[in-house]
Amino acid sequence: MEKKSILIVAAHPDDETFGCGGAILLHTGEGHKCSILALTCSNDERREEFKKAMNLLRANELVVLNHKKIFFNHGLVDQVSDFIVKVKPDIVVTHIPWDYHREHRLTYRVVKEALEWSAHSTKYRDPWNPTRLLLMEVNTLIPSPQIILDVSNVFEKKMEVIYCYSSQLKKFPDDYYVKFSRVKAELRGVQGGCKYGEAFYEETLTKNSPFFSVKSSKNLFN
Ligand SMILES: [Zn+2]
Repeated sequence: MEKKSILIVAAHPDDETFGCGGAILLHTGEGHKCSILALTCSNDERREEFKKAMNLLRANELVVLNHKKIFFNHGLVDQVSDFIVKVKPDIVVTHIPWDYHREHRLTYRVVKEALEWSAHSTKYRDPWNPTRLLLMEVNTLIPSPQIILDVSNVFEKKMEVIYCYSSQLKKFPDDYYVKFSRVKAELRGVQGGCKYGEAFYEETLTKNSPFFSVKSSKNLFN
């Protein structure tokens, strides 16, 4: 099987696990490459938790940018588009634009802009245009997901990875994050006809500006 590459751009270390930890485990288990780019990190404890989690997820490449907060500006867009061009992912996964968390919404905007620029032949000698953009659900649900991934075989392992983020889990009483993660996976499992699922919303990528190296298709299947 041809090996592919997935890049997850998360606002904070832990979003990648809550949103698509099952997808990461499934694909790294099949030998595909998964890279994670976390835009912020507030302290060393979270950085350590992230490293531990990434070890369990078997992520190939992880980068934490040292931003304390996310601002939609050229500097951050450039950092993300540079990373896209470096990693050359087939699929990019990030946050949904209607997430309740402002920094998740800003991450979506930054990624959308970065995807435009990463494909421009005027900006990069070796531009890159991923095939798919998928949006994950962290704490805000997707009303009508287009994709439900069956993560039943890796779900308990995903829960193990969630426990790496103890600083975040203890923020709320009554095991909120643990319960929410399990119930969310069960809900998506019911919808997907499997035990546990992860939902994604797919956004079609544009490639019609004059700066793109590939501007047209040879047939309607690609
Ligand atoms: Zn977050």
